[in-house]
Amino acid sequence: GTPTALMVGSGIGAEKGILIRNGEAIQTFKEVRAIAFDKTGTITKGKPEVTDLIMVDGVTVKDFLYYAGTIENGSEHPLAHSIVEKAKDEKIKLGEVIDFNAVVGMGVIGIIDGEGVLVGNRKLMKENNIAFEAYEEELIRLEEEAKTAMLLAKGNELLGIVAVADPIKEDSAQAIAELESMGIKTAMITGDNRRTAAAIGKKVGISHVISEVLPDGKVEEVVKLQEKYGTVAMVGDGINDAPALKQSNVGIAIGTGTDIAIEAADVTLVRGELTGIVSAIKLSRAIFKKIK
Ligand code: ADP
Ligand code: MG
Repeated sequence: GTPTALMVGSGIGAEKGILIRNGEAIQTFKEVRAIAFDKTGTITKGKPEVTDLIMVDGVTVKDFLYYAGTIENGSEHPLAHSIVEKAKDEKIKLGEVIDFNAVVGMGVIGIIDGEGVLVGNRKLMKENNIAFEAYEEELIRLEEEAKTAMLLAKGNELLGIVAVADPIKEDSAQAIAELESMGIKTAMITGDNRRTAAAIGKKVGISHVISEVLPDGKVEEVVKLQEKYGTVAMVGDGINDAPALKQSNVGIAIGTGTDIAIEAADVTLVRGELTGIVSAIKLSRAIFKKIK
């Protein structure tokens, strides 16, 4: 009967690093028609590193990293960590920031040494009337290389661009190819800009890329996929993925991710390997074939 099957399923699952918190998930897996993936920390390793610094004429690397590093020191975002690390690597002594604010889906702002400083995307610059249009070609070039490019401004002026790259996990492309070959649609949902998202989507062969989504917009995107395909799984690691994990029919958390995501999910991929999902679906299909 079903209880035995669930136990068997859980045992094999544990062997493959799949931790099942909600037994129903083993049954639901076989019905999954589409899977939505978060990008950062799910498809990619979530450990971005600074790859490019492009300064406006007259701005030194030291000044650039002082302002960017000081403001990002107040942020928990993986992008922020990469910038702080770069500043530390270059032995920059960071300063103090007051009135620090994280602007969701856009970046960070604050006051350093009496001047307004901001780091973030185009939207953040537009909202603060910072001209960056002369650098649009550079931004596009970096984004087409799958990098996330951020702009730094102080006072009313642009100081330059910092770009980071987040390596893709070794098994992401394989997992997505196998899921697609099993007839399951794959989608990526990210807050990152459309060019970077498209470049990463292409590298891993994902069929559907949904970009520039604000954190609370992920739920809505899962609902849309459910309306289109029926049973939908969601995979994510971040605090802002938790509501979407709950909304999905099978929520899958990355074991190395935040506790909030793990608690919201039905299943945890202990080592964060996406091929675990392929195993889980195959297992579910096999078990329930036997029962019938
Ligand atoms: P994701 O988790 O997919 O990266 P977010 O909503 O956290 O999505 O961020 C969306 C975009 O907002 C980022 O790609 C970046 O351009 C900008 N952003 C967010 N937080 C920061 C930060 N601390 N520093 C600079 N830019 C940021
Ligand atoms: Mg993430």
